[in-house]
Amino acid sequence: MFVRRSNLAAQRNELITFPVFNQLKLFEPITYPFEQQPGTGEALEIAPGVRWVRMPLPFELNHINLWLLEEDDGWTIVDTGLNLDDIKANWEAVLDTHCREKPVKRIIVTHCHPDHLGLARWLGDKLKVGTWITQGEMLNAYAWFHQLPNYDVDGMVGFFRRHGLDPARADTLFHRGPTYRGRVDGLPTEYRRLIEDDLLRIGSKDWRVIVGYGHSPEHASLYCAELNVLISGDMLLPRISTNVSAMSSNPDGDPLGWFLDAVERLTELPDDTLVLPSHGRPFRGIHARAAQLAEHHRERFEALVAACDTPKSACDLITTLFKRDLDAHQIMFAMGESIAHLNYLEHAGRLRRTQDASGVFRFVAI
Ligand SMILES: [Zn+2]
Repeated sequence: MFVRRSNLAAQRNELITFPVFNQLKLFEPITYPFEQQPGTGEALEIAPGVRWVRMPLPFELNHINLWLLEEDDGWTIVDTGLNLDDIKANWEAVLDTHCREKPVKRIIVTHCHPDHLGLARWLGDKLKVGTWITQGEMLNAYAWFHQLPNYDVDGMVGFFRRHGLDPARADTLFHRGPTYRGRVDGLPTEYRRLIEDDLLRIGSKDWRVIVGYGHSPEHASLYCAELNVLISGDMLLPRISTNVSAMSSNPDGDPLGWFLDAVERLTELPDDTLVLPSHGRPFRGIHARAAQLAEHHRERFEALVAACDTPKSACDLITTLFKRDLDAHQIMFAMGESIAHLNYLEHAGRLRRTQDASGVFRFVAI
């Protein structure tokens, strides 16, 4: 049975040396059961009543997977895509081809990031249906959309400056301004709240809400035991490691600890569960993927502790974590990730934080 860890240093150290890290070879390998992927306007059936829709993204991460769940008398949409004309046109094609006979009955959104929540308002207004989402995600979306204090660009840039970001790159981020509002086409003004362990009856199947933390405030994955399918959202991706960033509104939190706990919890599901991730291809091999992610972060923890033989800021350590040049968009994620790793190691008792006269934090190995 899963026992949630507290932030006690001793328990964090136990996580760092958790045996799962040394057992990669004991797990079934990761497999990708589908050769084919859906093209524009297509919805490919990959489990009974579960269809895969793929939409473009204008980033290095160039696509997002969305899902349609069939009911006797309608459809449920899971995640909605970014606010772009291309994606709206793609949705029109999907709805016209696949959802003409039966109406869409609800929209479920795994979390507040704009590639997931971006078109919930647009689709909801168009289809006259509500959005189901956790409260943490919805409130965070409102806070970003309305640029509330410390959910705004000022708060973020100030936070990164305290973690050593140089004035030139801080300025670039500041002048880039808020991006969230443009990437979502409005927000739903009301929502149906999802909570941990909710059982959603969709068609003849029950889908259980599994809440995860660290990537976003209160991310909802959905698990159907009867189909042995997990809609993992961004909590478990097959090839890239999920972004986990510290945020200015919760500067000393431990999102990476929360994330690793949440991923470990997903390993309570059967290893042959078909995982439907938001990016990349559907796969099997939850345990192997969870172990890979844990190992990935463990290597980073060790590299950071070694680099902190003399005091270093989160900005100093970006080159320890990322070996390539980063643009402004990537610097924002890199700073958030660097701080998340340092906070984890501080909570674990491996690093100590110092602050100089100008207020910049640096971390040194204990
Ligand atoms: Zn996300």
